[in-house]
Amino acid sequence: MSEKVHVDPVLGEVRLRRSRRARRLSIRVHPDRGIVVTVPFAVPYAVGIVFLESRREWASAALARARERNADLPAGEDIESLRKQAKAVLPPRLADLAARYGFRYNRVTIKHNTSNWGSCSSKGNINLNLNLMRVPRPLRDYILLHELTHLRHPNHGPGFHAELERLLADHFSVNLEEADFQDFVPKISASRARYPYTHTLERALKAYRPV
Ligand SMILES: [Zn+2]
Repeated sequence: MSEKVHVDPVLGEVRLRRSRRARRLSIRVHPDRGIVVTVPFAVPYAVGIVFLESRREWASAALARARERNADLPAGEDIESLRKQAKAVLPPRLADLAARYGFRYNRVTIKHNTSNWGSCSSKGNINLNLNLMRVPRPLRDYILLHELTHLRHPNHGPGFHAELERLLADHFSVNLEEADFQDFVPKISASRARYPYTHTLERALKAYRPV
């Protein structure tokens, strides 16, 4: 069995394995090892990439589900410790971003729920999920900017998306020098010709569903 690693901007490291026993192309998904594409011995690795491309949506969703099942889910005192961190970190960060991009909100509340990362009410109150503390900082900022954008656009219409894209373009270029942003910038720029920022960030976020 021989192996080659292919780095996909969205799916991460993909292992292409050539196997003497394999009769057909197949894809398996591991929460830690990522995606493994098995190709029969006589088949070039490039054909494995084409095969993966044809099942990209499925592979991405399967990877997110596998990681979700595998995630160390917080419980009991872990939630209290996340709540403490969230209360110390999220409100000042939201205030920073609001000041930088000219938003005014009413109140921010830290919540624990399983249905969303955040929400914004018609009264300008913003709720943030304490599980945002388990998410890399650029994705956390993305959620905060999403909720702030709702202050101007209380829906997910074209105006909302145009404004959020504008903010993300600015935010990711301003923070380009920071190490944790550098993980995301190549992924974004690789898909930028075809997809908006939100597409790439939403995909990355799938590995961290709120619990
Ligand atoms: Zn929204």
